Amino acid sequence: MSRIVVSLRGADRVRIGHPWIYRSDLKDIQAQGGDLVAVADPRGRVLAHALFSQKSQIALRIVSRGDAPPPEGFIGQRIATAIAYRASLGIDATAYRLVHGEGDLLPGLVVDRYGDYVVLQALSEGMDRRLDEIVTALVAQLQPAGILARNDPRVRELEGLERRVDVLHGEVPERIQVSELGVRYEVDLRMGQKTGLFLDQRENREAATRYARGRVLDAFSYNGGFALNLAARAESVVALDVSEDAVRHIRENAALNGRENIEARAVNVFDELREIEHSDDRFDLVVLDPPAFAKNRDALRKALTGYKEINLRALKILKPGGVLVTCTCSYHVDEAMFGDVVYRAALDAEVPVAVVEKRMQGRDHPVLLGVPETYYLKCFIVRRVG
Ligand code: SAH
Repeated sequence: MSRIVVSLRGADRVRIGHPWIYRSDLKDIQAQGGDLVAVADPRGRVLAHALFSQKSQIALRIVSRGDAPPPEGFIGQRIATAIAYRASLGIDATAYRLVHGEGDLLPGLVVDRYGDYVVLQALSEGMDRRLDEIVTALVAQLQPAGILARNDPRVRELEGLERRVDVLHGEVPERIQVSELGVRYEVDLRMGQKTGLFLDQRENREAATRYARGRVLDAFSYNGGFALNLAARAESVVALDVSEDAVRHIRENAALNGRENIEARAVNVFDELREIEHSDDRFDLVVLDPPAFAKNRDALRKALTGYKEINLRALKILKPGGVLVTCTCSYHVDEAMFGDVVYRAALDAEVPVAVVEKRMQGRDHPVLLGVPETYYLKCFIVRRVG
């Protein structure tokens, strides 16, 4: 079997339970890209087995600990375990995540279900090499009408992999319909962001809806996920997104669900929040669900300034007693940092704010303890007290 010797620091990473070992910690490489390799410490003791990426800074992704290799067919077995876990959750949706990479001990693999279709992403060289095995397992376990590989995220380039979108099984139509929490959505699996929808926000949409009333603002709405849920209980909803395409989808989804109280605007949220602040339009509930401002550690300080800016503006346009649902999906921004951002925004807005709920990504996107990279989405629900 292929074998890689790692440094003492690399060996320590294995001991603390982290699934990644960086290129700089590799000492001796007897392996090809994509191989399942035995990972040995400097004295030659095998600590774990991992999938090897030749080009990536994340050179090893551990799939099992100890000196025994993982059993033959472990990928199919872990997919089955991940699917059974989702089935146990009683998810009120036809679209949700089936496999969440490291959180399901399948590093570098994402699998989402969209009704009768499956969308997957192989984000490491090891998983890319095993696509046939993965597709065979998914077909046997789910009998989907089609499997689409959305292998177009930029991170594939870091693995030396092509960015491409392919149908790997059956047929996948241009557009399909799914439902979540009783709301119907048109989804374009090939062109939509991520694998089509932001499935990680389902439970936060449900939570936010419990506070909905009066006038609501959904900022960074994409195709209207929060807006469509909140509209059931609010008098009127304003949904904002900078993308014309997203705004067209919000309008289509509003029509599909017979919601006439949603007004969608194609605007930059930073500018629009300032405009609203200068008008006398005030809201009972505001949602902030921006894209990841901090894509890496260097961008962190600028990102925190951006998060603070929108939270400050949102608090200013909230009525007393109103609720702010505020999110960050940058894993570089941890819970404490995000709490600090909201606190400083409240200080500058000169309003007293109470935290009502601290939430995270949905249960179908499990967070592996000790692996902060798997805990990316934080969602605080706060209330302007006075
Ligand atoms: N809330 C959505 C997901 C939002 S994803 C849901 O629940 O599904 C972030 C969205 O923010 C994207 O659709 C993107 O087009 C939009 N966006 C990014 N920068 C923006 C800006 N400055 N102003 C308005 N929208 C922006």
